[in-house]
Amino acid sequence: MPKIERRTSRSISLGGLTLGGEAPIRVQSMTNTDTRNVEATQAQIERLISAGCEIVRLAVMDEKALKALGEIRERTEIPLVADIHFDHRLAAASLAAGADGVRINPGNIGGMGKTLAVAEAAARSGGCRWVGVNAGSLEKELLEKYGRPTPEALVDSALRASRELERAGFFNFKVSLKSSSVEENIEAAVLFAAESEVPLHIGLTEAGPLIPGVVKSSLGIGFILARGIGETLRVSLTGDPALEVKVAYEILRALGLRERGVEIISCPTCGRTEIDLVALAEKVENSLGHLETPLKVAVMGCVVNGPGEAREADVGVAGGRGTGLIFKRGRKIKKVSEEEIVSALVAEAEAEAEARAGDKDKDGRSG
Ligand code: SF4
Repeated sequence: MPKIERRTSRSISLGGLTLGGEAPIRVQSMTNTDTRNVEATQAQIERLISAGCEIVRLAVMDEKALKALGEIRERTEIPLVADIHFDHRLAAASLAAGADGVRINPGNIGGMGKTLAVAEAAARSGGCRWVGVNAGSLEKELLEKYGRPTPEALVDSALRASRELERAGFFNFKVSLKSSSVEENIEAAVLFAAESEVPLHIGLTEAGPLIPGVVKSSLGIGFILARGIGETLRVSLTGDPALEVKVAYEILRALGLRERGVEIISCPTCGRTEIDLVALAEKVENSLGHLETPLKVAVMGCVVNGPGEAREADVGVAGGRGTGLIFKRGRKIKKVSEEEIVSALVAEAEAEAEARAGDKDKDGRSG
């Protein structure tokens, strides 16, 4: 696959994190706990961080949530974005409470005057402003002009807001243009990127439950990324937000844009399969979720085609009847019983990840 050339975009900062410019494409998610429940929200943020999430957005809907935001801020370093609808004072107060950024929508926050007031509060606090333009809440005037939230209407709204912010001297912001239609989502991103270097947050709203959500997000986000557009992304799924992060990295990895953690390569199984491969692949995946170093781990069902794939991976197994041949760096290293396959693979993968982390340190490079 040819390397994807990323577009030129402005570099901005959010908390201690850079986004856009030369920075890696940032992965973010949103908590689905009640923000007012500090313990539950904090626990979910920790799980998101373990999954590799780099920016966490949380809904701040009232004064209680605002107070909770302050407490959560004390407990975590990850950049936090307060998601605000309707009340621009809550946006300014969230920044004062320690949010690194706020996500507002000019369509429902009360117009550009209020948007600029929030931008001023962000500039005072050093936070990153994020203008979110969602299809559901376009300005009335634009809805009348375009008839419905078309890609052109979304881009028109986002460009107007961006230009007003820039005219007022604010540059530390990003834009999202999310629609729930895959095709329109792509069209809107392409139109916006042709007109602006403002970092673009990409995603698909209301993508749905796991399987349709993953398929729609992979296509809707993947096509945009394949064109070199998108500086941060959120996969939206109805369910566990930690899965959103996992899917986001899989999309980035599939396009060769960013790698994190273990990639499991497993065969679809067939009449030759001699071990319980489905359960085995699942156990291996669950046991290696903690590794951050990019590694390919092959879990193959037989000794006919299995060894080829297992050799190509960093670590792999080719299953035989009640046994497994373990491969590492292209070489067969041992034969174990079926019951020992998971522990043997996990041990070899962990050792390999550790060796690579050591090599990286020696090279003086950092992750
Ligand atoms: Fe079948 Fe072996 Fe291929 Fe798996 S690797 S699909 S068991 S032939």
